[in-house]
Amino acid sequence: MTHPLLDLPPLTAEHFASIERKVADLLHTRQDVVITQGEALLPLEGCVRAGSRPGSTALNVVTGPYGNTFGNWLRDCGAEVVDLAVPFDTAVTAEQVAGALEEHPEIDFVSLVHAEAATGNTNPVAEIGEAVRAHGALFMLDAVASVAAEPLLPDAWGVDLCVIGAQKAMGGPAGVSAVSVSQRAWERFAENPAAPRRSYLSLLDWKERWIDGGRTALLHAPAQLEMLALEACLDRIAAEGLPAVTARHAAAAAATRAGAAALGVSPYVARAAEAAPVATTLRVADASPVAAKALAADPSAPLAAGGGALAGEMLRVNHYGPVASREAVRAALAALAAALSRDPAEALAAADEAWAQSPAG
Ligand SMILES: *Cc1c(COP(=O)(O)O)cnc(C)c1O
Repeated sequence: MTHPLLDLPPLTAEHFASIERKVADLLHTRQDVVITQGEALLPLEGCVRAGSRPGSTALNVVTGPYGNTFGNWLRDCGAEVVDLAVPFDTAVTAEQVAGALEEHPEIDFVSLVHAEAATGNTNPVAEIGEAVRAHGALFMLDAVASVAAEPLLPDAWGVDLCVIGAQKAMGGPAGVSAVSVSQRAWERFAENPAAPRRSYLSLLDWKERWIDGGRTALLHAPAQLEMLALEACLDRIAAEGLPAVTARHAAAAAATRAGAAALGVSPYVARAAEAAPVATTLRVADASPVAAKALAADPSAPLAAGGGALAGEMLRVNHYGPVASREAVRAALAALAAALSRDPAEALAAADEAWAQSPAG
């Protein structure tokens, strides 16, 4: 008897390439797409190590915890790093980025996180991209938490390296990721003697052996389960329609904010325009015990205390993927109300009203 997960035929190069094209469609990109067999940190590190080197200068925008990771990799590569950090409950502005570029004309690499699932903020990439393009630096964007949750247009925004993962708003598998790579980025990688080669971190290996070879010979046996799951989630997004998927995430964010306000709970990110549609963070003192109480009331409610030090002050409603739904938002609000010993009725009514007013309603 064949096992549905174990006895799969090998994934062909043709099939692999067709999944790459579906990722390219999702990103509205005409650049090369490389699918990487590992979590999103794999292509992110590959991009940093190929795009920077001793003698290069990077502007590392820090709007959440991932920025620190990128900064450490950049320094490890021998690059000079200019950190532009803003409070995690706000967004960086294009003016701040333009100011840093003006102050350091030698900057040749910019790393930015689009949306931060951990802190719930999102950055204005279109405007930032204009500033980066005017300066001429290579532009890397971590779009793991924004893809499928909000508009993401790497080509129109001048993003050279756009990294995504499937496990957040795409509602797909963890353990597979992808990056779109511009021609400019390929050229920069190729002239960098320190860029990883013959390495699992090497994007150049994919360029030389897979893309330039006409996408006929894969570098290694594809992970069938992850690839098939990635394809299934891309097909599911296409069937619903990407605009409908992003509208659902926007509605979930608006409904969560409205419901929380009715409970007297402030959003962590004060300005709605700077709040990420992937997850809504709330300012809750002693969030760990509150989250534990909420989950005791409803173990399926999509909420958690903030990570690390944020656990003392923030609670996160993770309304992404299939749980970007009115029902999941209602469940989270009802559980939060129970934890705070409050009647949920007003919060649920406010959430319903906000959902109905949104484009998804
Ligand atoms: C979740 C997340 C990641 C990490 O993705 P993995 O696939 O778990 O490595 C990176 N960046 C951002 C902004 C994220 O939200």
